[in-house]
Amino acid sequence: MENDKLHNVVIVGSGPAGLTAAIYAARANLKPLVLAGLTPGGQLMLTSEVENFPGFVTGIMGPELMDNMTKQAQRFGAEFIYENAVSANFAAKPLEISTAKEKYSAKTVIIATGAEANWLNLTNEQRLRGKGVSACATCDGFFFKDKDVVVIGGGDSAMEEANFLTRFARKVTIIHRRDEFRASKIMLKRAQDNPKINFITNVTVTDVLGENSVEGVKVKHNVTGEESVIPAQGYFAAIGHTPNTKIFAEAGVEVDQKGYIAVKNQTRTNIEGVFVAGDVNDPRYRQAISAAGMGCMAALDVEKYLESLDEH
Ligand code: NAP
Repeated sequence: MENDKLHNVVIVGSGPAGLTAAIYAARANLKPLVLAGLTPGGQLMLTSEVENFPGFVTGIMGPELMDNMTKQAQRFGAEFIYENAVSANFAAKPLEISTAKEKYSAKTVIIATGAEANWLNLTNEQRLRGKGVSACATCDGFFFKDKDVVVIGGGDSAMEEANFLTRFARKVTIIHRRDEFRASKIMLKRAQDNPKINFITNVTVTDVLGENSVEGVKVKHNVTGEESVIPAQGYFAAIGHTPNTKIFAEAGVEVDQKGYIAVKNQTRTNIEGVFVAGDVNDPRYRQAISAAGMGCMAALDVEKYLESLDEH
């Protein structure tokens, strides 16, 4: 169905970037429409405590932070639709963006669709998803009380997930493909100092074992070629993320080699009227606060852009 209203700005995504853009755009009286998705709130909905978002002395739970941002945007008149954007037509003027149910027209669009977890893509890893295989310790850690689990990866996410899992698990093994870590020193040290965590490095995970639930992982040493099995009932992938840009790339928005949206000038993309904010453009910082900051920038850029349209 076509919605005949012409929106000043449609914001796609409802993580910190999209919601901050919504707050700023709503306060600028642009009456933003937020396509918040079927599972709104972004990655912070999968986090427990957020300790580094400024202003919360003792931290705040991720879902509570997102709920607050949503209510803050609604207080200033942002409208929310809880559907996924499934296609975009940016050759059209006004711009068009569709959910499964409706097509929306907009003078501007802010893409704030974030990123999602990567997998090793082993057949048995995918088969055992939800049966001991996960990419979110904060969502699923509780199920591994007094169990042994493995965490794959050597970045901050792996360290964070491993530390979190020690609240429940008996033992956590971090499995990493190199013997150097890209994790920050403080996060690595925290994991190294945790008596429940041990490390296996310089190995490749070649299989996830188990019929109906995870029983272990098979690894191969990268130098000696020696194979071994690490018994575990839980498997957590923490090997980075992929940005949610497919429908926008199909609509002609320029993306980089890894699929992140390329910016041309501050928050502008290569398509006039289409702006970007948050992890969907940011493989480097990936913080709630940096995403929120960029959401603010995108909304201010949209405001200036709309003013320039009015002047002509
Ligand atoms: P990341 O820094 O890109 O690290 C991904 C890790 O997974 C790397 O160790 C990488 O190994 C490994 N990996 C990637 N593909 C693999 C594959 N196919 N097989 C085996 N291993 C693979 O991702 P991240 O840890 O998710 O962190 C992303 C960003 O978020 C970083 O900037 C990080 O600082 C930030 N972050 C911050 C916090 C925090 O401060 N609280 C928490 C989480 C994340 P190699 O090292 O060999 O490439």
